Amino acid sequence: MAILQYASEAIKNLFRPPVTTEYPFRPFEYPEGTRGHVEITIDDCIGCGMCVRACPSSALSVDRLGGTWTINRFDCIACGYCVLKCPKKCLRMETGYQTPGPEKQAVLYTKSPEQLEKEKKQREEAAAKAAEAKRLMEEKKAAEAAKEAKEAE
Ligand code: SF4
Ligand code: SF4
Repeated sequence: MAILQYASEAIKNLFRPPVTTEYPFRPFEYPEGTRGHVEITIDDCIGCGMCVRACPSSALSVDRLGGTWTINRFDCIACGYCVLKCPKKCLRMETGYQTPGPEKQAVLYTKSPEQLEKEKKQREEAAAKAAEAKRLMEEKKAAEAAKEAKEAE
């Protein structure tokens, strides 16, 4: 009986496509949803640090003013929490795993000079607006104080 089962399976397998692939002649196709490694669109990052706080293995660091984002891929466990937490959706999981290496090297991503310049201008504009608002508020307070003093005379 077992021989018949084996023979039937063997005959079926003659007509089935192979379950293995001819790697490396045919590139491996990762299944949908594979959590290989994290990638970033650095120019969209606002440096909020939510990914850093969410990372359970402390694999990330961010420098908002410097416009850099760093990942130590050897510490990353590909859990995907950082991708879920990013409010700008600039992180994503891509297929393909970290290449083995003799040293734990972090990968540094830096924003483009155009983006850094744009953000610098935005910060300067915001600071100028805040200073103007503060000046107007102080003027208003001074005017109110002067009016109260005059009324008290
Ligand atoms: S995938 Fe997980 S372990 Fe890797 S950097 Fe993101 S939060 Fe950290
Ligand atoms: S959570 Fe997203 S936007 Fe915030 S620092 Fe990380 S990558 Fe940048």
